[in-house]
Amino acid sequence: MKTTHYSFACLLCILLTSCAYKDEPTYNNSKGEKFCSLHHQRLISDNGFAQSPEVCILPTDEYTAIAATFPNHNSDLAEQKSELYTLPVKYSYCQSCRDDLSKKLKN
Ligand SMILES: [Zn+2]
Repeated sequence: MKTTHYSFACLLCILLTSCAYKDEPTYNNSKGEKFCSLHHQRLISDNGFAQSPEVCILPTDEYTAIAATFPNHNSDLAEQKSELYTLPVKYSYCQSCRDDLSKKLKN
């Protein structure tokens, strides 16, 4: 009987953990710092640039599916201003999300 309760508790933990990640890509610690829910690393804040509203670059379905598994990559923003990226923005990202997305896209 104890084994059944233990198995149920483990299953419940797994379900709750996976649901929490899908709902919230980030969480705050007690100091109010924002962390990646996937990698548990503090997000890095930086100044960058978003696409100009006159430009529309649509990602492929394959890219969208892969990128969705790394919730805090924010690779759709640029560090440097260019013809395509003209709107200054303050944004945050997880370095591990960016690294893992980059590795996955190379495969
Ligand atoms: Zn991450």
